[in-house]
Amino acid sequence: MPSLLLALPLLVIALLLGQPAWRAWRQRQLATQPFPAFWRRVLQRRMPLFRRLPPDLQQHLRQRMQAFLAEKAFIGCRGLEVTEEMRVLIAAQACLLVLQRPLSELDRVRQILVYPGAFVVRRRHTDAAGVVSEANEALSGESWHEGQVILSWDDTLASAAEPHDGYNVVVHEFAHQLDDALGLSTDLEAEAPSGDWARTVGAAWRELVEAVDRGEAPFLDPYGATAPEEFVAVVSEAFFEQGPELAQAHPALYEAFSRLYRLSPHVW
Ligand SMILES: [Zn+2]
Repeated sequence: MPSLLLALPLLVIALLLGQPAWRAWRQRQLATQPFPAFWRRVLQRRMPLFRRLPPDLQQHLRQRMQAFLAEKAFIGCRGLEVTEEMRVLIAAQACLLVLQRPLSELDRVRQILVYPGAFVVRRRHTDAAGVVSEANEALSGESWHEGQVILSWDDTLASAAEPHDGYNVVVHEFAHQLDDALGLSTDLEAEAPSGDWARTVGAAWRELVEAVDRGEAPFLDPYGATAPEEFVAVVSEAFFEQGPELAQAHPALYEAFSRLYRLSPHVW
């Protein structure tokens, strides 16, 4: 009876505090668990970017990964069995985005669907004359507003293996999820945007659109010119993989992303 009397107030407090407080407590518990040796080996073997991180950020990333892996559901597609190595490598790259930000900003992500390689989707296009056509498209990744991220394992592996080419499908798709949570691309097309972020990033986006229209070969992936949300995802890839080059080519844009992610990858 005394234990019930004790448990009851605790239960009431837990209900009053609600799910976020419970999750934060659980995440702190997970962060104190030992990091599995196999996960450590996967990071050392498969992710050169992890080896480049300062030791305090490596430690922080490991803690983020433990909470991420405890919460997210992974689903293998087209017969793929999702292995421990796949989960670890996806979590490590996804958690780069919330290395210094609240992990709760990725709460919208409920499922991660993994295909063995590029997957084909049927897309509907409308041309300038309004004619609608449908075609198959091979994708390496996709992000859905309903909280799903779809990834090709081949591309996930290649993204981790090559940390300097500015191509990282995991960073790209999870940047879309962060954008959904924070509204990063919302005001980029505004005529007179309010706030430093929208002004700086919106100007850089229009600069890329114009460079692509002129047929130039810009530093940033031209795919970023297709829509403001693609620009945020493409710049995130460059930020984590080509920090020094981005800082040199677009200092104001680099600064804006450095404030967003609270990181300075140009010195890694
Ligand atoms: Zn995209």
